[in-house]
Amino acid sequence: MNVLDPHTITRHGKRAIERCLALSRISEMDGGILRQYLTVKHAEANQQAARWMQQAGMTTWQDEVGNQWGRLASSDPAAKRLIVGSHLDTVPNAGAYDGILGVMLAIELADLAHQQSVELPFHLDVVGFCDEEGTRFGATLIGSKALAGDFNANWLELTDEHGTTMADAMTVFGLDPLKVQDAALDPTELLAYWETHIEQGPVLEAQQQAIGVVTAIAGAKRALVSFKGRAGHSGTTPMHMRQDSLVAAAEFICKVEQSAAQCSNSQVATVGYIDAKPGAVNVIAGKTTLSLDVRAQQDSELDQLLHSIEHHAQAIAEQRNLTLEWQWTHAAAAVACDQHIMQTFMEACARNDESIALLPSGAGHDAMAIATKCPVGMLFVRSPGGVSHHPSETVVEEDVARVLAVMYSALAIQIAKTQETYEPVTHDDVALAAG
Ligand SMILES: [Zn+2]
Repeated sequence: MNVLDPHTITRHGKRAIERCLALSRISEMDGGILRQYLTVKHAEANQQAARWMQQAGMTTWQDEVGNQWGRLASSDPAAKRLIVGSHLDTVPNAGAYDGILGVMLAIELADLAHQQSVELPFHLDVVGFCDEEGTRFGATLIGSKALAGDFNANWLELTDEHGTTMADAMTVFGLDPLKVQDAALDPTELLAYWETHIEQGPVLEAQQQAIGVVTAIAGAKRALVSFKGRAGHSGTTPMHMRQDSLVAAAEFICKVEQSAAQCSNSQVATVGYIDAKPGAVNVIAGKTTLSLDVRAQQDSELDQLLHSIEHHAQAIAEQRNLTLEWQWTHAAAAVACDQHIMQTFMEACARNDESIALLPSGAGHDAMAIATKCPVGMLFVRSPGGVSHHPSETVVEEDVARVLAVMYSALAIQIAKTQETYEPVTHDDVALAAG
């Protein structure tokens, strides 16, 4: 594959950004961005993405769950599939880049390969997932889970805020709810899945890095934790006779923060919600419920941290003569990114004189769903201010061109690896990062 001149890369990077902005105008919201699953705007976005895919030399189709696809075909019809993409749906009042940028960059990658008449030993399949955020029906990763064969048939009965079921919305959209399972991929056809995404956090910016190679997508567990004591009059109950659930909760929140801060591998723990009952200025809180969200790169680390947090909760409850209740609300296992893909990405960074930053993803992504069927790898692009899920979410124009250059090099490396003509470049950075 030819080395591309910087002007070409800059032009394509710029166009990826322009297209994100163009898609942001396909919105259900006045004055903001919202694109939900199975809406008219979802259909419009798919059609627009399909036009751009066709201009990049791809054949296009929409699958049974509503994901948009484009293929730059290998001359070998039986070749495996390298899938590159992200999601096209958004949260309410979203930014223009979360998910979308990954799809637009995948199209630019295919366009570059097409223009260079690159001989592909695999099909280069670009996917725009239909629903990652779960905004309309509450279930997340619908598009990627359908590909993984993990679409839950019960989801068809989920309703949106107007009472429309997912099954009915599918029919209106032109899909057959009885055929959703047909969107599942055949794992024997798959080579890998690559996803480029904005970081949505402040780490790369703090490290003055444009690009990061993702090591793992963090696993998460969530619970509602309740301390139960006794409500009482704030004026008449002496301090030593109280069973104050809110003070216990305050103590617990500090322990949650300390426990995660003492961990050494990017573990995080958050209390983001608190509800004190009865909730009056002159009443001691009898019951306080708070949310707990804990994430870690490895399940064992997650369990360790949770164990420590549970231990603190128990000790606080005992000391204050309260009862403690746990209600588990969510669990997702950690997903490791594939070592070989990480190596490919690191070498692609090195070839473009990018220093290598390795980091975990604290947020969930489509890659986690696909990881049950094939190796996955992710690249992160710096998020200025760490801002995401907000209209001021943005990217640095130069960063986008730089990550596109890395993706193009990664494609060249992957082609060589597949053709078994690959010769590793010995590069200090690669060796260092790999070690
Ligand atoms: Zn996203």
